[in-house]
This record gives sequence, structure tokens and C-alpha cells, in this order.
Amino acid sequence: EMFGQLTTGLEAAWSKLRGQEVLTKENIAEPMRDIRRALLEADVSLPVVRRFVQSVSDQAVGVGLIRGVKPDQQLVKIVKDELVKLMGGEVSELVFSKSGPTVILLAGLQGVGKTTVSAKLAFYLKKLGKSCMLVAGDVYRPAAIDQLVILGKQVDVPVYTAGTDVNPSDIAKQGLAEAKKKNIDVVIVDTAGRLQIDKGMMDELKEVKRAVNPTEVLLVVDAMTGQEAAALVTTFNLEIGITGAILTKLDGDSRGGAALSVKEVSGKPIKLVGRGERMEDLEPFYPDRMAGRILGMGDVLSFVEKAQEVMQQEDAENLQKKIMSAKFDFNDFLKQTRAVAQMGSVSRVIGMIPGMSKVTPAQIREAEKSLKIMEAMIEAMTPEEREKPELLAESPTRRKRVAQESGKTEQQVSQLVAQLFQMRVRMKNLMGAMEGGSIPALEN
Ligand code: GDP
Repeated sequence: EMFGQLTTGLEAAWSKLRGQEVLTKENIAEPMRDIRRALLEADVSLPVVRRFVQSVSDQAVGVGLIRGVKPDQQLVKIVKDELVKLMGGEVSELVFSKSGPTVILLAGLQGVGKTTVSAKLAFYLKKLGKSCMLVAGDVYRPAAIDQLVILGKQVDVPVYTAGTDVNPSDIAKQGLAEAKKKNIDVVIVDTAGRLQIDKGMMDELKEVKRAVNPTEVLLVVDAMTGQEAAALVTTFNLEIGITGAILTKLDGDSRGGAALSVKEVSGKPIKLVGRGERMEDLEPFYPDRMAGRILGMGDVLSFVEKAQEVMQQEDAENLQKKIMSAKFDFNDFLKQTRAVAQMGSVSRVIGMIPGMSKVTPAQIREAEKSLKIMEAMIEAMTPEEREKPELLAESPTRRKRVAQESGKTEQQVSQLVAQLFQMRVRMKNLMGAMEGGSIPALEN
């Protein structure tokens, strides 16, 4: 699981505050050491860790007692907000040119996924309704040009090539001219990477940049390289001037150092992230969601977004609101499970459902089966019971009826009811929502 070790490390910090009444300088000392250790082990750069820990402890000690909020939850909230800030706060959107084609220049070392990103980016922009053209500027490796042509076909985007005898800045210029003729919205220029930073590569990039005056210059970095990625972004920015970074291979077992260090170290935002080898595996970088993932909330919002693809817009927005306010009921539960089922590939989504993030692929078929069982039980509930799960929590008679009508056991019904309330509470804790329900005990 992405950043799993970091998540576990941070959980250790909260757990030490259970049972405390308030946050004090004394009782946060050990949790703060845990947080520090977890971040360092995730390969976040040391100065960043120092500033982070300092800022979190200042806020934690200064925080007033909020009624009904436990100190460990308060600390989670402070850390979450600080993580979001660390990663740049808001989503950093791609900028488009207002006159003529937008030119996006991609730079990066060899093997980081630059060519793949070129095609993924074209695919992503096409979905936003923009026409694209790819330009093959990696003139040193004929294989790189072939690869771009193949990927271009795959995403149905034209690829401008001029072989390996023309220099990259001329290719870029010709590509841009061609794009203007064809009224293309976005030109994506792939450039040659090297194994390491060298002067030749930097000079070439500067020349291409001068030749086509790009709106975006994005450095593609590999998330597996941790804080080294942040150092690279800094160097490229100083040398050629970049507008942001694209972080690739976030689906691998990267520890989080790159995602957490890039903005703070380089001052440049991560704009997009790659999370797999398929063309659709490129998405905007949402600091808020990333923080959520790091804290082990599953990725409620990404889940809702995926669900949106199969649900009515309104339904999905409602569901999202209810999840955020921890008020969702069995109708939402049913919509959610059905949406998951309709999405076909339960395996891709299951990790995003809070509380299910630890499900292993081997358990997925089991999970699909249990979705069916849940559905049967929810269908046996009255509309009122679906809207007010409390009715079922309070009445063994109602649970018995649901069990009989759905052909399941009373224990299964009790479990389902308990699960709904647990989800509410977990979401409440994690989303930092400070009010609302507790788990009603099931009455026997
Ligand atoms: P380039 O040398 O920078 O152009 O790198 P390529 O685009 O050729 O990619 C190098 C390898 O990384 C290829 O095998 C890609 O399939 C793989 N790759 C690229 N992006 C991702 C990603 O987000 N996740 C994973 N798992 N693999 C990726």
C-alpha cells in the first residue's frame, strides 16, 4: 500500500495519546518523536522534517480544549493540515496559453517515465476536451521515438517526428508550426533524458525552451527516489526554470519522501502524479487527498470521484457531503456498494474504501461476495430503517425481521449495522469533523 510504513509510523504517535485529557508539552514529546522518525524513515528531507515537527508541536500545545474532541484526534487534525500545507495546499492546475497552442515541455532523467507521461498527459488532456500533439524530441534513442509513436497511436494523438538527425529545438519548432496549422490546443514536447544531470542536457533543454517558449515546463521525477526527487526539481529549476513537477511511480512502494519534500524544498508544485503504467493512470496532485491517504483514511474523495463515473452527479455529490458529515445511511451504503460493483474492477477501488485499505488481493473475491450479502440485507430493510440505522441498532426485533427476510443470520445483520456506525465514526475522526454521532450499542 502506498506510504504504508509512514501511515503505520504516524498511527504509533496517535496511539500514545489515547486516554489523555489534554495536549501538553510533556505528553506530546514522545508522539512528536514518533512523527519525526516516521517522516525521516519515509525519506523526507531533514530540514523539512525539522520545520514540520516544530510547527506541529507549537500548534499542538497552543490548542485549546475543544469539547468532545480527544487529544489524539486534535493531533491528527493538526498533522493533516500541516501535511496539506507542506504539499502546497491547493491543487496546482496546469496553465493553458490564451493565444495559440499551449506548449508543455517535459524534462527529466532517463527511465523516470517521461515518454509514458507524454502520452498519458495527452490522454488526460483529451478527456478535458483539448486536442493534442506529441513531439518526439528525444533524438538520441530511436527506440524512444518509436515508443512515443506507438503510445501516440494508443491514445489516438498525432506524433510529430523528424528522425534523429535534426536537433531537438528545431524539431520542437517544426512541431509547433505544424500544430498551429492544424489548430491543435496543446503541444507536448518529449525531450531526451540522461542517466545523470549533465551540461549537455541542460543546454539542450534551455535551447528547446527558447525555441518554443513553453507555457509549462514540467520536470518528471520518480517517486521512488525520495528526497532526491526534491533535489532534482531544485536543480532543474535553477538551471532552466520550470513551472512544476510530475511525480511518477506512486503506485510502487515509494515511501512518501518525494511527495512530501518537493514543494517545500524547491518551491515548485507537483502538478500531476502517475500511478501505474496504463494510459489512464495520471491524475492531478491533490495535497488534501494525499494527506488523507498518508493518515490512512483510505481515499474517500478519490473513491467518490470514481463512483461519480457510474453514479448520477447529484447522487455522488450528496454521498460526498454525507461522508464528510458522517451522516450517511443505508441508502448511501447501498449506492456505494452498487457503484463499486458496477465499476467492474473492485480491486482497484477497494483500497480507497475507509477501513478496507488493508484488504489483500486474495480477499477481494471474498469482499465481492460480502457486498452481495450486504445488499440482500439492506434490501430487506424498510425505507425508514435505511434512513435511520439507529432503529435497527435499538431493536433486536427489527434485526431479526431483516435477517429472516434476507435469509441471513441475526449476527450478520448486527455486524452490518455496527459496521455502518463504525464507518461513520471513523470518517468523523479522520475527516476532522468535530460533531455528530457515536456508536450506539446494539441492544440485545
Ligand atoms: P523515460 O526514459 O523517462 O522516457 O521512461 P519511460 O516512459 O520509458 O518509462 C520507464 C519505465 O517506467 C517503463 O517501463 C514504464 O512503463 C514505467 N513507468 C512509467 N510511469 C510509471 C508509473 O507511474 N508507474 C509504474 N509502475 N511504472 C511506470
